[in-house]
Amino acid sequence: MQNCFIALVCLWATYGSDCLTWKHNIPPSTENSKQTFFMSTLNNSEYCGRKVKVSSMSLWSASLDDDLAKLPIDPIRLNYVRRVKDCIFSHVYPTPFMSDVQLVAVSEDVLENLLDLDISVANTNDFLHFVSGDRSISGFLPLTHRYGGYQFGVWAGQLGDGRAHIIATYINRYGERWELQLKGSGKTPYSRSGDGRAVLRSSVREFLCSEAMHHLGIPTSRAASLVVSRDVVWRDQFYNGNVKKERGAVVLRVAKSWFRFGSIEILTKFGEFHLLRELVDFIIKENFPSIIQTDPNRILAFFNVVVSQTADMIARWMSIGFAHGVCNTDNFSLLSITIDYGPFGFMENYDADYVPNTSDDDGRYRIGNQANAGMFNLNKLLVALTPLMDNIQKQMASKILAGFPDLYYQRFIELYRDKLGFSGEREEDLTLIVSFLNMMEDTRADFTMSFRQLSEITDCELRNLTIPEGYWAFHDISQHMDFPAWVTAYLQRLKSNPDDSESKRRQRMKTTNPRYILRNWMAESAVRKAEMNDFSEVHLLQKVLQRPFQTQKMAELAGYSQKTPEWAKDLKVSCSS
Ligand code: AMP
Ligand code: MG
Repeated sequence: MQNCFIALVCLWATYGSDCLTWKHNIPPSTENSKQTFFMSTLNNSEYCGRKVKVSSMSLWSASLDDDLAKLPIDPIRLNYVRRVKDCIFSHVYPTPFMSDVQLVAVSEDVLENLLDLDISVANTNDFLHFVSGDRSISGFLPLTHRYGGYQFGVWAGQLGDGRAHIIATYINRYGERWELQLKGSGKTPYSRSGDGRAVLRSSVREFLCSEAMHHLGIPTSRAASLVVSRDVVWRDQFYNGNVKKERGAVVLRVAKSWFRFGSIEILTKFGEFHLLRELVDFIIKENFPSIIQTDPNRILAFFNVVVSQTADMIARWMSIGFAHGVCNTDNFSLLSITIDYGPFGFMENYDADYVPNTSDDDGRYRIGNQANAGMFNLNKLLVALTPLMDNIQKQMASKILAGFPDLYYQRFIELYRDKLGFSGEREEDLTLIVSFLNMMEDTRADFTMSFRQLSEITDCELRNLTIPEGYWAFHDISQHMDFPAWVTAYLQRLKSNPDDSESKRRQRMKTTNPRYILRNWMAESAVRKAEMNDFSEVHLLQKVLQRPFQTQKMAELAGYSQKTPEWAKDLKVSCSS
């Protein structure tokens, strides 16, 4: 019981053991005869050389000479499932839906601030065609990526984008380069036995959660839009023989890069060392500007950054109770952003053994084991990078990896200090953090609301052990026999904060401890309505989760800061998506 902290922060050294003219010009090499094109003229979204926001897709220009598309391409252009060799990408067009599509939601922030698109563009048919995969940018051949990965500890061979297509790269008015990728957009050479589709249920979850994570301050891919079709997609949601009709949906995801650990692994596993060198150098050039491209130790420098940023990402997950659910190497970004949202979950009652994915029988990816999973994955990445290193560099890389637990631990403690409202560092901080977690565990108190209510309660109420009405999570934790002593020690520690006041402390904590997270029941409620073509709760959640740290009337009315309702007590989420 008292081992929760150990489970959360400790790592075993066991990493050895896991534009607008219509143009119906279909290149002869594609099979998707429904595919049509936007004419995109370079620089048409520029004014006097400066990019400007545009309100029509015909005025939007993708980066047609992006170096990504110059990486080695599969010479086979036909779209059938196969073992692909000696390339990074295959050219495949998305497969348009047979039925009409409907735009469910868009992220104004992503459109306006990442893609220089005025939100009004979302009302246009051109936009709908673009984000549903039935019209491409003329001159940009969509890319599907070849990668591999360790799934649940075992090398799974070739995986790749089985239902995702990069449909554009874009450099915005701030000079940021973004890769736009559709998910659920049809079969590719990497689809294996899959249908290339994603269902509405999982797409709503990914759309909402990736945006929510961004607003919580967690590095993540973003979601620009969500569309739903009437195309039937068959899924056995709980793998119990109960196959049901669902609706196909597509999310337009946006990230600075979609390369994963598995992007590198596959090249080493198949002995494609020339490609390995080319890809790693490309990734360093594009995404790691602080590394000098000619530095003979650049691979080490790259690995060093990935190790520390992965530690940071996982520590941040842990600071908000987020469990990814499937921490396979193919789902770990080389930019250390949270990607591939599937059976994720936010821990409710505090439990280091919380497993969000019902298909994860052994609890390999339980919340308290995520740092260990990160270590396993980084070790696999190191192995994949070794052909690019000499013996001394290999030794140094092992030392860098050995530093991961410390980096993670330090980051974890920093984040939890902030969560408790501490400024500076004091010896007793660790004990106070551990005790708070232990009390939550023993009383099964809600993780998110315990921290939030600690942020909202006054010093006076704390001192008198007067728990205000409605402080339901805090009420639970206060039942612990150690609570009064903890409060005394906590208030004493707060006094050592330099230049602090109660109001400053509460204000600070309220910007660290969210009031609203995407609890499973909230996502489920939105999904059930969405499946009946009512997207009101998707929109409500999207709005609320843009400001997770601010108390909002609509959210309170919806019960989003309340206990999980009775109907949702036994909700399960599986890998099926
Ligand atoms: P995920 O669990 O979404 O991270 O996917 C793991 C692997 O399975 C990736 O290679 C995906 O592209 C592939 N995959 C998942 N679902 C499908 C599907 N419905 N059709 C084709 N490939 C899929
Ligand atoms: Mg994946």
